[in-house]
Amino acid sequence: MIRICLFIFWSLVAIAFAIDEPALKPVFGTQRYVEYIPGELPLVMSAPHGGLLKPRSVADRSYGVVDSDANTQDLARRIAAELKKQTGKSMDLVISHLHRSKLDPNRELKEAAQGDQTAEKIWMEYHGYIEDALKASVARHGRALFIDLHGQNHKDIRVELGYMHRVTDLTEPTQVINGVDFSKSGSIQLISELNPSVPYANLLFGSESLGALIEQHGFLATPSPRMTVPTEPYFRGGYTIDRHSKSAANVAGLQVEANRIRLRDTSENRQKFAEALVQTLRIYIPKWLKVEL
Ligand SMILES: [Zn+2]
Repeated sequence: MIRICLFIFWSLVAIAFAIDEPALKPVFGTQRYVEYIPGELPLVMSAPHGGLLKPRSVADRSYGVVDSDANTQDLARRIAAELKKQTGKSMDLVISHLHRSKLDPNRELKEAAQGDQTAEKIWMEYHGYIEDALKASVARHGRALFIDLHGQNHKDIRVELGYMHRVTDLTEPTQVINGVDFSKSGSIQLISELNPSVPYANLLFGSESLGALIEQHGFLATPSPRMTVPTEPYFRGGYTIDRHSKSAANVAGLQVEANRIRLRDTSENRQKFAEALVQTLRIYIPKWLKVEL
């Protein structure tokens, strides 16, 4: 009898500890150069250019952009923490810890790693984690929103939303933008398919577009109703968004480029932007991807 009681007691202790234990622990790749924090929401974020590590064992990249996007790793973590605070749930987060002078995960392999074998391995792990995260999210929710988080320092202080469309494409007449082929060249084709009665231009810069919602939460953004065609320079989205945002895989995605001034420079500003973006996504994802957060 005592044995049975002890067994029940220790079983209850084990269950209590299991509940207490955070279910979603970070996973690290080779030498902890990539970190993957699994989540449970239909939202996956990657931070490719906020890495700080410059190990001698990885060769310096000799061409392409080598400057980091300052504070974007911290910004991504703040967005994840704020989302957890507001919803009680975590999003998937993939972080490159290598400085961009060692690896640029947002380029195809050749330019990204420039022949360094360790960098090549980290690049594969990085994109592998994004693929795993998106597949898991789609398995749970039927679809996923993917955000590749960056920082820019353009003179016009705004959030740049990159759907893979060039500025010259966005200057096309509305009827061309709303035509059947236009959305196929963009990264939110899935959202267009989920909302067949909504003209594509409305998704890019209408009154309920992501740009409009971000502006309603206190930060200027483009494309948006205020600025349907971004002034240049403008980042339209890169390798990572192009690779992972496929409607056939039930993934919509975009590149979010946060200006340094007002959005990334101080911890207070990063927190304000993180809160605004989370509030925005809590409207955007249920409305356009038709899945609750
Ligand atoms: Zn970047």
